[in-house]
Amino acid sequence: MTSNNKSRRTMKHDTEPIMDRIIDIFRGKEDFVIVSHEHPDGDGIGSQLGLGHVLTGLGKTVRYLCFDPVPEELSFLPMAEQIESVPPEVGGETVLVIVDAPSPKRIRWPGEGPPLESVSATINIDHHISNTCYAAYNWVDPKASCVGEMLCRLFKKGGFVVDRAAAECLYASILTDTGGFRYCGTSADTFEAAAELVRKGADPSRIATNIYSSMPPAKYRLLHLALETLRLCNNSIGVMRVTREMFKKAGANTLNSDGFVNYPYTLKGARIAMLLKELADRTGVKVSLRSKTGEDDVNKIAQKFGGGGHPTASGCTVEGTIAEVEQAVVAEAEKIINHT
Ligand code: 5GP
Ligand code: MN
Repeated sequence: MTSNNKSRRTMKHDTEPIMDRIIDIFRGKEDFVIVSHEHPDGDGIGSQLGLGHVLTGLGKTVRYLCFDPVPEELSFLPMAEQIESVPPEVGGETVLVIVDAPSPKRIRWPGEGPPLESVSATINIDHHISNTCYAAYNWVDPKASCVGEMLCRLFKKGGFVVDRAAAECLYASILTDTGGFRYCGTSADTFEAAAELVRKGADPSRIATNIYSSMPPAKYRLLHLALETLRLCNNSIGVMRVTREMFKKAGANTLNSDGFVNYPYTLKGARIAMLLKELADRTGVKVSLRSKTGEDDVNKIAQKFGGGGHPTASGCTVEGTIAEVEQAVVAEAEKIINHT
């Protein structure tokens, strides 16, 4: 463990000094392992690969790691096939970079967890307000729409070359984590970062087509069944369920319900949306929560059940039947809406 790891640098707001330190490490070190979180999304995979392309361009050795498979719709991203799922050999010179993960638990590194103490440095780059600042260098910006946007800022500040492959990955990160530039974290900075990436070769139409127009038929069959359960509770909470039975009937896999929370979210009148999904391999229900404005803070709801996330997008896993879990989570959502 180095002295850097001992003095944990916690920079949630004054981001300039921590960005400079991270730039120095990216320039000075040679061996990098970049990790994204379990059940990865476009921001996890896109920012991981985008950073990797830039570091590779600087002549560094880069290994990519994620302990869950890359979703099909992101597999077109350059180098996605290089992402490994077994813990790599790390040495005293290795730098471990973790993206989009508010806590080490979210990486689901097997055994004792990530080797935070045995590497040269650990860097945590994230935009979750709930980030526990678990690394030696913690750059956490809850105002950023996604890690991809943060990295664009970093690369500009550091004068790093963002090639076309990096631009595509970072654009995918921004596109997906803003829900196609719709969610409330989307700012002028987001559009500026995206525009810059397009200038560097990212093709918005090709990327959007790969991500959003590649629905496997089983996903539509599953959606058809799930939509039967879509309803608006108390005129303010959109709810939809996906059960084990539906997965079976549709011939769908567990990833096929990704994005389904958008249906209760887009219901007219829904301030809060939730998707309840029965887990395939054990008891319990995975709950995805969304809020249209963040004023109804769904992170608070998820935290009540041991989960977390952002004010506008959070999740948790709750024990019980789907009906019991729905009742309990809807009750908490009502409290948030009614300020009680
Ligand atoms: P999703 O609903 O898409 O699975 O997750 C939305 C957001 O909620 C993610 O960005 C993630 O930060 C957070 N999240 C989802 N599930 C969990 C969970 O079980 N624990 C924690 N801490 N955060 C979660
Ligand atoms: Mn993210």
